[in-house]
Amino acid sequence: MKSMPQLELETGVDGAAPPRRERTEGHWPHHGAKEPAPAAFMTQMVKKRLDRSRRQWGCAVNALLVTFIIVALPAMAILFGARSSASAVWVANALRLGSATTSHDTDKLLGGLLSADGFDDERSCHSRFQSARYRRNAGKRPSPYLVSKLRQHEALQRRCGPGTDAYSNALEQLGSGKMQSYDGGECRYLVSISYSYQGLGNRILAATSAFLYAVLTGRVLLVDPSNHMGELFCEPFPNATWLLPPDSFPLKGYTNFSVETAESYGNMLKNNKIIKTDDAARMPPPAFVYIHLNHDASGGLDKLFFCDEDQRALRDIQWLLMRTDNYIVPGLFLLTGFQEELGMLFPEPDTVFHHLGRYLLHPNNHVWALVTRYYDAYLATARQRVGIQVRVFGADRESPELLKQITSCTRKENLLPELLTAAEPETANAVPAAARGQSKAVLVTSLKSWYYEKLKSMYWEQGTVTGEAVGVHQPSHEEYQRFRAKSHDTRAWAEMYLLSLTDVLVTTGASTFGYVAQGLGGLTPWVMYKPPANGSVVADPPCGRGVSMEPCFHDPPAYDCKTKKWADTGKIVPHVQHCEDVSWGLKLVPRIA
Ligand code: GDP
Repeated sequence: MKSMPQLELETGVDGAAPPRRERTEGHWPHHGAKEPAPAAFMTQMVKKRLDRSRRQWGCAVNALLVTFIIVALPAMAILFGARSSASAVWVANALRLGSATTSHDTDKLLGGLLSADGFDDERSCHSRFQSARYRRNAGKRPSPYLVSKLRQHEALQRRCGPGTDAYSNALEQLGSGKMQSYDGGECRYLVSISYSYQGLGNRILAATSAFLYAVLTGRVLLVDPSNHMGELFCEPFPNATWLLPPDSFPLKGYTNFSVETAESYGNMLKNNKIIKTDDAARMPPPAFVYIHLNHDASGGLDKLFFCDEDQRALRDIQWLLMRTDNYIVPGLFLLTGFQEELGMLFPEPDTVFHHLGRYLLHPNNHVWALVTRYYDAYLATARQRVGIQVRVFGADRESPELLKQITSCTRKENLLPELLTAAEPETANAVPAAARGQSKAVLVTSLKSWYYEKLKSMYWEQGTVTGEAVGVHQPSHEEYQRFRAKSHDTRAWAEMYLLSLTDVLVTTGASTFGYVAQGLGGLTPWVMYKPPANGSVVADPPCGRGVSMEPCFHDPPAYDCKTKKWADTGKIVPHVQHCEDVSWGLKLVPRIA
């Protein structure tokens, strides 16, 4: 693995400019409750009992089916002389499917991460109930504390979210422009907004980060539904919504809020509209504050968001709007005020996105149909699935060096078998019988088809030294990144999810697309490093194992809130370190024992 890169810092006096960070171009981017009314509650209870008895009946049927599969199928195979490999594969698959169904039934709620109540109609969101069936890697178990906190948060969304009196009152306060009567009550809100030019990976990481901040601060999360955020996912909260109803929202221009907005936290601090001293008690809190944590906030006062005294200043403001294109979670771990809670929620700090992503991000039925059809057709029967994410940009040439980097990485790390050379005889008998017929399915995702075509030809035109059959597949090649195109986002989401269903994963460094896949899959990827000299030579080493499955925070604060000086924030908390793919970025790594 590549040694951890050092951040070069100029220690400066208070207010001095932070160290400049170069973005690289090329292949490598840069809480009283309105619970259901009694009648509705009774109906729910009756439905739940019916569901339970249906489930018990289902278990009995499954047990019979599994017994049949285990006992009868092999016998039939022998009886009818199932000597062909096709029959053998069919029997093996039947056995595997039988056991997958059983494990799905036992843990489709992902260790309690997902609520058992409130989603009585499984048809409204198949992925929520079926995803465990498609994952060989069951993933990490959530802590009991996280599970209970998620149930509390769901109750908060029900009590305070859209459709409640509390929500109507809060909207009225916001519309009046002055927060004079906010009494520190429990309904406070966080609206997560995104730019239309942000890719889906960035939007997913932003919404997930916002969710964690909402949970930590007891705020209702409302995601702006524009940019297709309202159209790709199922509702994560039972009997509540995570989407902001934009029509009734009184801040009409909120989607255009930027670093220039007068109500941004940085500008309000600069203009003394928010005062962090005790004098603050004499000032009525503003009706809302906009927090600009986009990459163009670098060095601005908004980044003081990652300091404890600024969190105290934000605490009583009823409405916060947050814009980021980043996974800000490692920055939240720098805040002393959140550390104890985060430690209880995530005893394994390198599993935050893994758990929160699996909790929040359920492909809607249309996307799920794309995922499952593709999976069943091309990936389901393979002995091993290898995901390769090749992030390219529209203007990039087809790069033999990048192709070489992919093949070098997969061979060096034993992810794909070596090819026979022309001089070696193609005798299947030379291959150990146990290996013959075993297969690997390679899932390539890329905007371009060239890399997939080359890999596919390689494994068709030449045999492998292990005798394994290697199938190469690519669901789409969109050629260019598009904006405001729903079908484009749909395919991107389906492909991120498919990558997350693989057994081993190779990603392109610094890509949020890959981060989403690795986190959902619980996969620590092999990361392809940025090649030197603008991609004209092959990177050496071509790839290295990631330090964790967590996404990297590309634009973190570089300021020590205690010393009030620019500082290396990768050296403050042991499990917040610099990323392997973006040297100045921050990521969560396993706790050092
Ligand atoms: P990042 O730019 O690599 O961090 O990833 P993002 O997901 O934020 O933005 C890239 C966008 O380009 C994606 O959301 C897709 O719209 C598109 N894109 C990039 N690579 C692929 C790919 O392999 N498959 C598909 N379908 N779309 C891709």
